Amino acid sequence: MKISIITVVYNAVETIEQTIRSILMQTFDDKEYIIIDGGSTDGTLDIIKKYSSDLFYISEPDKGIYDAMNKGIDIAKGEYCFFLGADDGLSAANILENISLELTPEVDVLTGFVWIVNEQSHRQYLYGNNYGRSKSDDLVKGGIMAHHQGLFVKSEIMKKHKFDISYKIAADYKLLLELWLNPNYVVKKTNQIISFFSNAGVGSVYFQKRFEEHKQIVEALPLDKLVKKELLHTNFKWKFIQMIKRILQVLGVWEILNAFRKQDVMHKCSWKSCRWCEHEK
Ligand SMILES: [Zn+2]
Repeated sequence: MKISIITVVYNAVETIEQTIRSILMQTFDDKEYIIIDGGSTDGTLDIIKKYSSDLFYISEPDKGIYDAMNKGIDIAKGEYCFFLGADDGLSAANILENISLELTPEVDVLTGFVWIVNEQSHRQYLYGNNYGRSKSDDLVKGGIMAHHQGLFVKSEIMKKHKFDISYKIAADYKLLLELWLNPNYVVKKTNQIISFFSNAGVGSVYFQKRFEEHKQIVEALPLDKLVKKELLHTNFKWKFIQMIKRILQVLGVWEILNAFRKQDVMHKCSWKSCRWCEHEK
């Protein structure tokens, strides 16, 4: 059972090597690694080429991140697709091996936990898994739902749905809604921690845009009235929370509050050239 891992990258010379290594050093062999580069000019390509015997890559301009992800889906030959960003890493060397044991033939979608690392403090917290149908209200409570860094989807399903590139930011949200709404798909949750990624680059402006697209998507999809209402309500709630967060950030209170979050732990991984672990070595 082959797993296709896809990384979409554009000018990420500082972080791409850690991502590549976290995949190539997996104990699980039945995998293919595909990198879709958007025509990087900062040396990213040189790093990719260094590992070219162990991965497949293309490098050409694209129409944005979801267009690039769709290219990866087209190429993928594995039974399952998994996306890992060029700033992310798999949690441990045996994680794909462990996950493969959970990917039994009936499972269409598998979703697990991810670590979100604070770029400043190097502390990380677990982002759970609000995606699934074990409780009817999972979706609407979750709001943003699963991160793609913790999501395995059957390739045949991905090839059928693809990302809708008319949504620049939230095409993943649309895809997840479509998967969730289709009662024929078997969604499984796992408690395994699949990957980690940085909270950098997802500031409040990003979230405001994202929630705006969420709203457009919910309004455009043929949804049950009640579900639509709840999704829009959740969307509004998250937008409001982000606004409060922004105010606290401007006041400098957010970082102080963050330092006291009990569930946070210091980031730790076994990957060489990890920019967060380096200070501990
Ligand atoms: Zn690390």
